[in-house]
Amino acid sequence: MKTTISTTQAKKLITDKLSHFFGVAPDVATDEQFYKAVAMIVRDELSKKNSDFRHTAKGQDSKEIYYLCMEFLMGRSLKNNLYNLGLTETFDKALSSMGVKLDNLYEQEPDAGLGNGGLGRLAACYLDGLATTGFQSMGYSLRYEAGIFKQKLIDGWQTELPDFWLPGGEVWLVPREERSCKVAFEGYIEDSWDGDFHHVNHKDANVVEAIPYDMYVSGKGEGVSRLRLWAAKKPELDMTLFNEGSYMKAMEQSAMAEAITKVLYPADNSPEGKSLRLRQQYFLVSASIQDIIQRHLTKYGTLDNLPDKVAIHINDTHPTMAIPELMRIMLDECGYSWDDAWSIVTRTVAYTNHTVMKEALECWSEELYSRLLPRIYQITKEIDNRFRAYVWSATYDADRVERMAVVSNGVVRMANLCVIGSHSVNGVSALHSEILKETVFNDFYNLTPAKFCNVTNGIAFRRWICQANPALTDYITSLIGDGFITKSDELEKLRQFKDDKKVLAKLDEIKHENKVRFAKIIKKRNGVDINPDSIFDVQVKRLHEYKRQQLNILNIISEYQMLKENPNADYYPKTYIFASKAAPGYFMAKKLIQLIDALSNVINNDPDVNDKLKVVFLEDYNVSLAEVLMPAADISEQISLAGTEASGTGNMKLMLNGAITLGTLDGANVEIHDAVGEDNIYIFGMKTPEVEQLKKAGYFPQSYIQNNEALAKAMAFLQNGVNGKKFDEVYYSLVNTDPYMALADFTDYQRAQREISKAYADREKFVKMSLMNISGAGIFSADRSIMDYANNIWHTKPVQFAKETPKAAKKSKPMAPKSEIKAEPEKEEKKEAKVEPKKVEKKAEKKVAPKKEAPKAPAKKPASKSKKK
Ligand SMILES: *Cc1c(COP(=O)(O)O)cnc(C)c1O
Repeated sequence: MKTTISTTQAKKLITDKLSHFFGVAPDVATDEQFYKAVAMIVRDELSKKNSDFRHTAKGQDSKEIYYLCMEFLMGRSLKNNLYNLGLTETFDKALSSMGVKLDNLYEQEPDAGLGNGGLGRLAACYLDGLATTGFQSMGYSLRYEAGIFKQKLIDGWQTELPDFWLPGGEVWLVPREERSCKVAFEGYIEDSWDGDFHHVNHKDANVVEAIPYDMYVSGKGEGVSRLRLWAAKKPELDMTLFNEGSYMKAMEQSAMAEAITKVLYPADNSPEGKSLRLRQQYFLVSASIQDIIQRHLTKYGTLDNLPDKVAIHINDTHPTMAIPELMRIMLDECGYSWDDAWSIVTRTVAYTNHTVMKEALECWSEELYSRLLPRIYQITKEIDNRFRAYVWSATYDADRVERMAVVSNGVVRMANLCVIGSHSVNGVSALHSEILKETVFNDFYNLTPAKFCNVTNGIAFRRWICQANPALTDYITSLIGDGFITKSDELEKLRQFKDDKKVLAKLDEIKHENKVRFAKIIKKRNGVDINPDSIFDVQVKRLHEYKRQQLNILNIISEYQMLKENPNADYYPKTYIFASKAAPGYFMAKKLIQLIDALSNVINNDPDVNDKLKVVFLEDYNVSLAEVLMPAADISEQISLAGTEASGTGNMKLMLNGAITLGTLDGANVEIHDAVGEDNIYIFGMKTPEVEQLKKAGYFPQSYIQNNEALAKAMAFLQNGVNGKKFDEVYYSLVNTDPYMALADFTDYQRAQREISKAYADREKFVKMSLMNISGAGIFSADRSIMDYANNIWHTKPVQFAKETPKAAKKSKPMAPKSEIKAEPEKEEKKEAKVEPKKVEKKAEKKVAPKKEAPKAPAKKPASKSKKK
């Protein structure tokens, strides 16, 4: 490790920061000041490490990876960075000698909650994976002032409080005002011809300034990733408007500008068709693409080699407009022809899809899209026209052309635009990627099958086992060494101990300690006493009907009723743990939270069942809560309706910490099943084809109630209300439509629940299953996912590091003989200086003629291949 700081040096650095920034001596500094001081030191180290990394990478043929995503659910940074830098012990000691506990400083940091759930956490895990595997990478997102809301239950009803994270989180951000750029909204397009030269003028636009803030993320090893977050700033007050008497318009514009990065949209898996959301998306995309082009032009002076040097990755459809934005800059500012630009764009951009549910596919009203983004609309229409012509010429099937079109029926379909403008489309689990080809993108798959592939999601092992579960990490290390931390496959070595009673006993002990630790957290947060010897059955994830918390609830009601009727039943004590946020406008989800809360009040206060059954709902599920929860779980509930959950990553975190999956064959559960074998997982319910069949045949939820007495009783309980509250909407939704077929899977779910409880009673058997899960989790490392992306989609290799002695490492030279850039490594940042994006090396040609009609007569050849002249 290059970063070497001694305890003495650390003490001096801390003392200096405290004095310089807060004017305090260590003996009077608060924990908050200590936290910020240490964070600033770590930030400086990361910046140095980044320079070293960039220096090593120079001259090597490893692409720049740009990962665009509206969400990065980062959680806390201090612990993660200290760990990955190998500095935890040093700072622990330095602080101890100053009378400060490092663990207390961790608690000072707010979660950077710039995401909703799985999608945003995936992006955060990938920054760690990219750095650890050694890619030069930049994540792009927005610097929301308020992240995902803080959740508080008031009489069981979710209320949302704003999450202003910057006061404690800002220390990690390095402002980079010299990299600012402008993003234009609204106005109109005026174009003119100067011989062959086409000028596009965006007139009367509302311009917003984008200011970048950088957050460094250390990998384990030599690599560093960067997250560049854009903040919107109001433009200088437009004095012409002022003079013309349009004072109010000027004020409106500035209010609009600042609103763009005020708050994260809190809806998970459901698009919001609001103009502010579209503004956010274009703001991210435009600033990021401008930045990527600047960086590239500074280095190479041309965009011709963009696909060879750069990969731009679009995470879900939210950043789709990166495609027309890249076209816009190449056409309007760099003078490329349409065909040349299109070829470069489509070879550079790749897209990951995250959902197959129709209601979750993003569509924008054409009216809003064209009004807000007039030039992007023109380009989108041209892409659409050319693609329509291409599909027609390839198929002569008008219905198919309409289905595959980008703009149709007054709507812009973002997923179609993504597929058309990317060279690669991937799903996020084996099952999901197959479903994509068979359903939503079937037409596209038939046309260009080679575009489609799979990259199963992964999680950052450093965060989700090393830091979250140090006891387990230390014990695994004592058995098989610490290679598994970066070479996750090595976890399989644990399997040689699967029948070793001593090892199993120790694993059991570690789990128990983690449960005791978590029971204390529950006591503190909820005031409920939990028996650490009971089974901890955990369902933690966003509240969504497709994830089927309602199925879990129905079984709990049923078990409660059974215990009331039969107090001496053979029932292993169980604690059901929920944590979950609902989108603020998602009524049914909020009702389900209220129902869990009401049920927990009834059950936890019923002396008849109290030593056997408890239900806990933990407020404000976030990354930091997940980190203490995962190590304490025995059962991982992954019970979505088959065919609805794209992958899941919570399932991976739980498995890695030794929980046994109780789930349907959905998302990555299928691959978890394959990795652990059928003896080490509890699968129930319909499979995807059975779900499809049942939908076709006609689904009647009431028939399941009639055929299962336990279910009928549970439904009756629900109908009567719980803890004095009515849940008619939940009840009637299940009885009448049950859109995610919870009732159809109820019987088999109860069977699986009984079996897993029975297995738990056989402690040795259960701990052995647990070992099989930990040891099988290797393939779910984010490092493996990143290498899949690199090999199959980005087509590039990681930066190579010279194997040197630690002493020599400090002055390491790039491995490749000739570096194309001669600047000093320390100047890396400066070298990003602005380059005028004027007509770069390309003769101007006729490009998009905005007023031109769509080609009526279909072209003979694919539009993207034909020269438009
Ligand atoms: C991992 C994670 C998720 C995703 O959970 P799933 O079960 O995959 O939906 C959501 N929220 C947080 C805070 C997480 O850490």
